[in-house]
Amino acid sequence: MRNIGILAHVDAGKTTLTERILFLTGATYKRGEVHHGTTVTDFDPQERERGITIFAAAVSCTWRGEQLNLIDTPGHVDFTDEVERSLRVLDGAVVVFDGVAGVEPQSEAVWRQADRYGVPRLAFINKLDRPGADFEASVRSLRERLGVTALVAQLPVDGGVIDLVGPRPDREDVRAARRRLEEAVAELHPAALEELGDMSDTTLRTAMRELTLSGQAVVVLGGAAYRDVGVEPLLDAVVDYLPAPTGDPAAPLSALVFKVQAAKQGRLTFVRVYDGVLAKGDTVWDAARQRTERAGRILRVQADRVTDVDRAVAGDIVALAGLKSARAGTTLSTREHPVLLEAPAAATPLVSVA
Ligand code: GDP
Repeated sequence: MRNIGILAHVDAGKTTLTERILFLTGATYKRGEVHHGTTVTDFDPQERERGITIFAAAVSCTWRGEQLNLIDTPGHVDFTDEVERSLRVLDGAVVVFDGVAGVEPQSEAVWRQADRYGVPRLAFINKLDRPGADFEASVRSLRERLGVTALVAQLPVDGGVIDLVGPRPDREDVRAARRRLEEAVAELHPAALEELGDMSDTTLRTAMRELTLSGQAVVVLGGAAYRDVGVEPLLDAVVDYLPAPTGDPAAPLSALVFKVQAAKQGRLTFVRVYDGVLAKGDTVWDAARQRTERAGRILRVQADRVTDVDRAVAGDIVALAGLKSARAGTTLSTREHPVLLEAPAAATPLVSVA
């Protein structure tokens, strides 16, 4: 499982990318186009009209046998509180940049927020099909404006991208780009340094993953979401480099509500389960307000449908139906083991007050 957010400056292509991911992972049956207003992650009609993503929601899909929970984070600068709230429940992020504009003010803002919450991330330089798009210049702006140590994992070629990790064509420009990637990795990673000159894909992948998780470097990929270029390699990178959630299914329940949303099924309470197991019909305890709630249904929200599940285990993100008063920021636990998860604006670790 991977709990990831897609973060971006408005218009960088977050909605398009999310929509393509859901399509490619088989979660949607038909393609929506942003400009036609049929995009599946934008529940709110007003939101569709305005063409910006205001409200966070979580959508699940599957890639290479891993469940990906995409937490939709608002990109609009007025809604940074909501961005921060959604950052609390992520384990990793994909930050989308516009290949023409490079790093924009809002991308810088979300980048700093992700820094504050210690969220490991990948960078995706989008819109490489646009006239004026420049992958290398965008990578430079990541270095210069965000201080990123970039691990450039692809070589863009006319209309596509060539992955530098895994099978690749034997071409001089590809060999040179691979060499640059290996050198960048070796500079930071002792085990990789030993293999410099003859580095295996496995060593490279492992080193890139460790550098991503420690925040020492960022894997940079590119493409054109609009044309499905680079989206599958990005999904591979999410699985290869971003972390699976941690948490103890055997521990007492602790879950954080991060979004309450009105839907056809009624009031949907989106929660991240940190520890324990939440089963359908369970009575849960809201320690902050000293009251019980009943999780009548547990729902997995997919792109175009909602499925009932029997339980949600540590690490998972699901929607609960039947809760009456829980709101964003509410912790759900059990009466026997009351927990309060706190994550105020500053990067405070999650605290148990049980
Ligand atoms: P968001 O505000 O970040 O969610 O951005 P959207 O996904 O709504 O995209 C903004 C605009 O850019 C829309 O008109 C998209 O059709 C367009 N767009 C998104 N991805 C690409 C791409 O890869 N190439 C091009 N040329 N346009 C794109």
